[in-house]
Amino acid sequence: MHSKCCMKRRLKTKRAEVTEWKFSKLPRIQEDKGSKMKVWSMRVFLTVLVLTMFPLSDAVAQPQQRAHVVIIDPAHGGDDSGVKLSDKEYEKDITLAIALSLKKELEKIGTIRVQLIRSSDKLVPFSERRKIAASARGDLFVSIHVNAGFGKTSSGYEVYFPGFRDAQAEQSNSKEILKDMARNKSLNDSIRLAQLIQKNMEGVFPRKSRGIRDASIPVLEGLSIPAVVVEIGFATNPEDRKKMTDGNTQKSVARALYQSIKDFY
Ligand SMILES: [Zn+2]
Repeated sequence: MHSKCCMKRRLKTKRAEVTEWKFSKLPRIQEDKGSKMKVWSMRVFLTVLVLTMFPLSDAVAQPQQRAHVVIIDPAHGGDDSGVKLSDKEYEKDITLAIALSLKKELEKIGTIRVQLIRSSDKLVPFSERRKIAASARGDLFVSIHVNAGFGKTSSGYEVYFPGFRDAQAEQSNSKEILKDMARNKSLNDSIRLAQLIQKNMEGVFPRKSRGIRDASIPVLEGLSIPAVVVEIGFATNPEDRKKMTDGNTQKSVARALYQSIKDFY
């Protein structure tokens, strides 16, 4: 039943085989320690494996740097207008303006390629958004939204990252543990990016941070790359609304997101 054997068939890279060979030389774990011990040692082995698959520093593991691919998702579009800010402006317009400006800034760096989920006022269903993100093989996913509250008092920006609570159950199957660890790596990176955005947005909306939170994010289902959703302000708050419909503020938001992504890498 040893999951080691099953894994051998799955692992294809030379590096992985070498790591596995070392593992097979490790002293056998006594049966009477129970399955907990086996799961623990499997986790140690898989940590090494995951670290080789997702290096902490590109500079160390990838002397020839490949361009990072950032997926930018200007939420809503077409018939799906999102929340209303004025007679002429809806959430879909604000998110698109920021996304276009952010793409322009990021591409100046040279090592970042940007894939926009949409670059015009069109409806893109969730399934299509996921497909675009998957086929672009993105490293990072940033979704831009405008918030709305029940009253006029709520204001400020929020940054969400996808929680993986459901996936954190006890796993004894090696494939599941590996998946779980890849998800944890994504989760840690998502939180790191969310914190950077929270910090950099402070320059645009001083003392307006409402914190970072985890949430289930439908557009990200099935994607295990670092991702955040930025709710830049409340359409229902007059002060937020005024700022968000201002072209200069939109550029400043794009600049804050640009800085965060740059800092992230
Ligand atoms: Zn929205």
